Amino acid sequence: MTASDCSFCRIGARELAADIVHASDHVVAFRDINPQAPVHILLIPKDHIESAADIADEHGDLLADLIQAAAHLARAEGVHQTGWRLVTNVGSDAGQSVRHLHFHLLGGRAMGWPPG
Ligand code: AMP
Ligand code: ZN
Repeated sequence: MTASDCSFCRIGARELAADIVHASDHVVAFRDINPQAPVHILLIPKDHIESAADIADEHGDLLADLIQAAAHLARAEGVHQTGWRLVTNVGSDAGQSVRHLHFHLLGGRAMGWPPG
C-alpha cells in the first residue's frame, strides 16, 4: 500500500479532511467519524505502519509521544477523572478495518470489559 492509497496517511499529510485535535512531528489525532462514545479520538503515526504487529524498536519514541498525547487529550476532553480507554485493533478478529496503525481514545461513558 502506498501513502496515496491509505486514508489515514492522507489525513496525516492534511490531504484528506478530518477534525484534527492534536498534531506533533510524528503523531496526529482526530475525531472518529463514527463515534462510539462521547469522546472518541483516533491517534495515528504520520508514517504508515500497518498495525501494532509491525512495531519495531525504532518506534519507541513515537509510541511514547502517542500515549502522552492520548493522556493530554483525555485531560483536555474532561475525561481524565472519570476514566478512558486506549485500544488498538489488529487484524480481522479484532475488527481492524483501517490498515494504518491507530489507537482509539474512548471516554465519557462507562465501558464493559471484555469487549464483545
Ligand atoms: P478499526 O475498526 O479499529 O480499524 O477502526 C477504524 C476507525 O476509523 C473506525 O472507528 C471508523 O469510524 C474510523 N474512520 C474511518 N475513516 C475515518 C475518517 N476518514 N475519519 C475519521 N474516522 C474514520
Ligand atoms: Zn497509512
